Amino acid sequence: MCRKICEVVTIDGPAGVGKSTVSRGLARQLHFTYLDTGAMYRAVAYGCQQLRVDVKNQEAVKAVLPDFSISLQPANNADDNVLVFLNNQEISMHIRTAEIGNLASQVSVHEPVRTNLTALQQVIAKKGKIVAEGRDTGTVVFPEAAWKFYLDATPESRAKRRILQLRNDGQQVDEKLILSMINERDKADSERSLAPLKPSPEAIYIDSTTMDAKAVIALMRSYIIH
Ligand code: C5P
Repeated sequence: MCRKICEVVTIDGPAGVGKSTVSRGLARQLHFTYLDTGAMYRAVAYGCQQLRVDVKNQEAVKAVLPDFSISLQPANNADDNVLVFLNNQEISMHIRTAEIGNLASQVSVHEPVRTNLTALQQVIAKKGKIVAEGRDTGTVVFPEAAWKFYLDATPESRAKRRILQLRNDGQQVDEKLILSMINERDKADSERSLAPLKPSPEAIYIDSTTMDAKAVIALMRSYIIH
């Protein structure tokens, strides 16, 4: 009974902390599947944007949810994020913007969205050997996960990373705006009533302000007996 859920690693933390890089790298080293739960919230936000649905309106969002079929596939290139599909259309590049991150945060407060995506994440993890990243993976989605981490860093260092990431993706960046969006998103994600961003009591807390991804992964691996 324990075996499958024991093979789940959760990595939660605020925006821009490097969860994706670390989770992908750790999953690769452990030969586990990487589960990017944030990509699913982004996919719902993108779908709402396309349909011109107001993400603040829970009833309107709930009404279109059954029309969304979301799936994730490992990227071919090991350095890439997962490929994200909405109704069989690949939307990976479209969802990696600051605007969609913000819309995802707004859409994620709604109970029908969380219930739907949590169930989808739990189904995916039934196969076991998962590294899941998000905001509530250790607290709500996989409370029995064997290894739980909470990754943190100062807002300024996170903004720097996010700016680099967006520039690498060829996007124009307003640095002050990115920092204020990160602060705004952290506040919304931590203060919402459903599945707020917070460390699970059992999570190992890692402040990565002065650490690179390689060092964070090595530290996590030192806790994981595999
Ligand atoms: O991690 P990422 O930046 O892709 O997440 C986008 C947004 O999706 C977050 O700001 C958060 O509001 C929401 N999210 C969530 N629960 C998760 C993952 C993401 O509420 N497990």
